[in-house]
Amino acid sequence: MKINRNFLNLKDSYLFATIGQKVNDYQKANPDAAIIRLGIGDVTLPLCPAVTEAMKEAVAEMGARETFRGYGPYEGYAFLREALCVSYAQKGVKLQSDEIFVSDGAKCDVANILDILSGDNVVLIPDPVYPVYLDTNIMDGRTVVFCDATAANEFLPLPDAGTHADIIYLCSPNNPTGSVYTHAQLAQWVAYAREHEALILFDAAYEAFIQDPSLPRSIYEVPGALECAVEIGSFSKTAGFTGTRCGWCVVPKGLIREDVPLHQLWMRRQSTKFNGVSYIVQRGAAAVFTEEGARQIRGHIDMYMGNAKIIAQTMAVHGFAYFGGDNSPYIWLQCPAGMTSWQYFDRLLEQANIVGTPGSGFGANGEGFFRLTAFGSHANTVEAMERFQTLF
Ligand code: PLP
Repeated sequence: MKINRNFLNLKDSYLFATIGQKVNDYQKANPDAAIIRLGIGDVTLPLCPAVTEAMKEAVAEMGARETFRGYGPYEGYAFLREALCVSYAQKGVKLQSDEIFVSDGAKCDVANILDILSGDNVVLIPDPVYPVYLDTNIMDGRTVVFCDATAANEFLPLPDAGTHADIIYLCSPNNPTGSVYTHAQLAQWVAYAREHEALILFDAAYEAFIQDPSLPRSIYEVPGALECAVEIGSFSKTAGFTGTRCGWCVVPKGLIREDVPLHQLWMRRQSTKFNGVSYIVQRGAAAVFTEEGARQIRGHIDMYMGNAKIIAQTMAVHGFAYFGGDNSPYIWLQCPAGMTSWQYFDRLLEQANIVGTPGSGFGANGEGFFRLTAFGSHANTVEAMERFQTLF
């Protein structure tokens, strides 16, 4: 037996472990310090009542012989796929419901989709970005090239005609930078992908946080994307499903490579390796699209975006260079006075008892930057920003 030696090529991920250790050490040494965590990417508001009510009803159905359900469809129940289809139609995107596959979250999909793509493909990954894209490709031994996201391009890298890639990860709104591609910018990526016969893996996990109606919430708003892009979505941040687990993956039927529809391969992959998301969870997810559910979810997103505004305004008042925060729950700021990401982490922890995430944990170009998130409570966010004002 031999192991997959590609795993040995992974860099140890110390980011969240080191943050946890440093915070614990500091708290031990300073037991009275009221530490505020603005570093986590997890939500803090609970599931909304429309979702929990739907789940309770589903639990009751599962407990009655007449309505009990066993294995569900691999691709998800039609009621949820149809609700997602209607939601796409509201964005002007016409999909068939059987082009949408319900999953247990976006993390799994951005990694699992690689099962149907050759290990020979060259993968293009923005730097900095959600680290799962890189690590999952290293595990498969693929060649990875990076495209630089920097302050100069407002953390929205565009294709370079001189670089060939077969698979392209795009994340908009971006984690960690909070930047969001425009239609025109996404159109450049779609044109590149079509020219190179590449595949875009578009991670739309934060699309619900986009406030500006002129910005695209789906790559399929760009003409031609249905033939070159898979889109991955999630209920995690939109509706507080980080622990409940539900997402989706769109594999359009017109997406064909080497004369084979990727839809056919993905269906085969899912039916072989995945037995679906629980009926109860899918009922909860579908409730997000009811009138009541949509209103309640909007209230949660508005609360988080209110926090983002408070953070962004504080950064602006103090003359910090920052990105994001207006259409995303992430604020990406440049560390002052040439500090490294970790130096700034230590400074904020020790002098303001605020915990953020060092940008260097998201890629080489993240060095010298720092991520704050809007997922804390309103009171903690206000308090953290008051401390920030006092510090600067
Ligand atoms: N994609 C991005 C860009 C993320 O930041 C995250 C979580 O932080 C995920 C996907 C994971 O989403 P899920 O909870 O649906 O697996």
